[in-house]
Amino acid sequence: MIQRKRPSAGQRAGFVGAEKFLPRVHSLRQLRAAVQSCRGCDLYKGATQAVFGAGGSKPSLMLVGEQPGDQEDKQGRPFVGPAGALLHKALAEAGIAEENTYFTNAVKHFRWVVNPRGKRRLHKSPGAQQIAACHAWLACEVEATAPRVIVLLGAAAGMAFFGRSFRVGTSRGRLLTLGSRRFLATIHPSAVLRSTSSAERAVAFRGLVTDLQAARAAAA
Ligand code: SF4
Repeated sequence: MIQRKRPSAGQRAGFVGAEKFLPRVHSLRQLRAAVQSCRGCDLYKGATQAVFGAGGSKPSLMLVGEQPGDQEDKQGRPFVGPAGALLHKALAEAGIAEENTYFTNAVKHFRWVVNPRGKRRLHKSPGAQQIAACHAWLACEVEATAPRVIVLLGAAAGMAFFGRSFRVGTSRGRLLTLGSRRFLATIHPSAVLRSTSSAERAVAFRGLVTDLQAARAAAA
């Protein structure tokens, strides 16, 4: 397991952390069931359910996003909303077979705020303390699936492994290592969706595909 030696940011913030909610056996099936009872930080309070990872049990690539979104929170599966649709399209363009991938997030519960202009819940990024509190679930997923390369989709995913100083801009597109694990950072697919013009969106999407191709090559 990838562990932090000192008290995590989550523990320093007063969160008990996910460790005490882990099941005795760390199989994906047991972990997926146990995460629904997690009270390791405050994010469970506003969410419909925990959204654990999904995909192949022995993947070449693990794709780690930030947190479940509105649709993921309702459906209980990762990457089923608009950003997920874009990610699946990018994977296809990069020639990555989805049976060789595992999808998950840095935190397992949806953080949101009320949209003052409508009924839809507005995404709010998890804080460093919540990311640290949730790390044990992610570490167990890494251990259980042993991916060849972990793709970090955005800053929160990078912070989950490398700490709060992690920046996508300075780490993107090159192979990173931590212990025996290998990583490749890129943007989160939602960053492509936030592009303000179709030209900008095309460039951002192409960049995401290029990074995924690099991850595929590293995992070969
Ligand atoms: S976000 Fe993670 S640590 Fe916080 S309650 Fe949910 S599963 Fe537990």
